[in-house]
Amino acid sequence: MRIDRVAYYFLILSISTLAAHAGPDDQEWKAYFQDFTLRAGPYVHTLNGKHSLTVEYLPHASEISFPQGASQGRDSQNNWILRVGGWFAKDDFMSRDAMDFVLCHELSHLFNPGKNEIFHDYFAITECLPELWRGEDIQAKLKESTKRTMQNRRKFWNRNSPRSAAIVQCYETNIHQAIEGFPFTDCL
Ligand SMILES: [Zn+2]
Repeated sequence: MRIDRVAYYFLILSISTLAAHAGPDDQEWKAYFQDFTLRAGPYVHTLNGKHSLTVEYLPHASEISFPQGASQGRDSQNNWILRVGGWFAKDDFMSRDAMDFVLCHELSHLFNPGKNEIFHDYFAITECLPELWRGEDIQAKLKESTKRTMQNRRKFWNRNSPRSAAIVQCYETNIHQAIEGFPFTDCL
């Protein structure tokens, strides 16, 4: 009886551990990035004219070879290219909605050059994601995706590039204000 019970708890523990790590695998991420270019295509068209958007997934990129996790650039024809590393996509905190937030943040870098990180989060939340998530429960998706992204950032920052408590607070306040619909106020 006791052994059964131990086995039972072990089974439950294994299932919950599996569930915690059951994010998209490489194939699923590739399909997601393909889908993102289709979903974001019309919106990028309004931002960047006739130029195209490509998302390159680097499944084998590690935190050492590609520490930025996600990046953005343009080719010589001003086509926009986003890149995402495998280590970043496969982090426990990552989800498809959180990746939508990350990619919208990266699109803001291209569309709003010269603005800071805080602004790019604000733009993603107030401009880009509402376009991508039209007709869905935008508030709930914003709360969940930004929460996951901040968990991911805190972990990464603690490990590689510590930020002051004030800066981390600034990111969180900005995200909260953007979701609530307040105008942008820079906090740096
Ligand atoms: Zn950025």
